[in-house]
Amino acid sequence: MIYLDNGATTKVAPEVLEAMLPWFCEKYGNPSAVYTSGQAGKKAVNEARRKIAAVIGAGQEEIFFTSGGTESDNWALKAAAESRGHRGRHIVTTKIEHHAVLHTCRFLERQGFEVTYLDVDREGMVDKEALKAAIRTDTILISVMYANNEIGTIEPVREIGEIARERGILFHTDAVQAFGQIPINAEEMKIDLLSASAHKLNGPKGVGMLYVRPGVELGPFMHGGGQERGFRAGTENVPGIVGFGAAADRALSRMTEKAEKERALRDHLIRRIENEIPYCRLNGHREKRLPGNVNFSFRFVQGEALAIAMDMKGVCVSSGSACTVDDGEPSHVLLAAGLGKEEAHGALRMTVSAENTAEETDRAVDILKQAVCRLREMSSAYRNFTAGRGTVSQG
Ligand SMILES: *Cc1c(COP(=O)(O)O)cnc(C)c1O
Repeated sequence: MIYLDNGATTKVAPEVLEAMLPWFCEKYGNPSAVYTSGQAGKKAVNEARRKIAAVIGAGQEEIFFTSGGTESDNWALKAAAESRGHRGRHIVTTKIEHHAVLHTCRFLERQGFEVTYLDVDREGMVDKEALKAAIRTDTILISVMYANNEIGTIEPVREIGEIARERGILFHTDAVQAFGQIPINAEEMKIDLLSASAHKLNGPKGVGMLYVRPGVELGPFMHGGGQERGFRAGTENVPGIVGFGAAADRALSRMTEKAEKERALRDHLIRRIENEIPYCRLNGHREKRLPGNVNFSFRFVQGEALAIAMDMKGVCVSSGSACTVDDGEPSHVLLAAGLGKEEAHGALRMTVSAENTAEETDRAVDILKQAVCRLREMSSAYRNFTAGRGTVSQG
């Protein structure tokens, strides 16, 4: 199997699993308990908090554990709306956010908030001037993702942070795809709230965090016990949190090396696809792009059919985004970037990790080429197109 879907989730690293194991059957005490094994859990949770904070240059008191990126996004938006709702009821976000943000915004609209969804350009980039123009006197929150999960575009977060801070507006960023992959400094970038998730960086599924800048007042998400200083009640997921800490530590120590390796694989994939498969186009920004992200639209084929054909040859890739597989609609991100429906339906995402090899990516391109070729042969639109142009070599 060749796994090229690291944007959807990643393999738990062996050292991460090893760090987690003692917390299941040996040191399983409740961190709220007074006895030694409970207190050891509490200490381990705080040790993980410190490691995770270090990834974004934050202090450990600024990290609150959650069940994942989705919960962090929900918490950030709903609690910001609640705590600032008396000042204004307007929120600015973008059309390319993850559904965890977009569907929370829809919910807030039903609660009487007004949301502006900013357009992006063809590369998936948010326009700072459009953002400034969208801000009103009653704007209380700006939520713009750090890097897009489908097309890999890295947004101008630093500039957005400045715009928000100057105007006293809260700034949340969904950094699930960027955390541990590219350098982030929450304070320098004037980020108030930041979401991250362990399973995108070789940690376990079902654990994430919300960074809350000191001084930002935010209500609790879960009501109950006093865990997470009363902001997120519920017995801590100790093994998961320890795993998240180990994954964060690992990601931070090898970030540059990992990104370099991924960029080389990514650029090799992009080059080969552009050279060898006609009628395709790269989605997302060519430079301001996550190190591991490749996303192409292939004319005259459906991304989903391509992903299935590649799966039959043992290659895991994603059509658009894993989150949109079920609804049959083309990706909202690609539509927002100005692609037509057909072009959006023809999208395929390959997300590499540093563990992939050049041989694997080469084999994946060979399989992709064959699959595109075969699917196009079955497409009457493609036959009509080539008939109108004379014969076309497909390499
Ligand atoms: C994966 C992802 C999420 C959701 O995180 P979970 O931990 O799976 O809930 C949110 N936002 C982005 C950008 C993501 O890539």
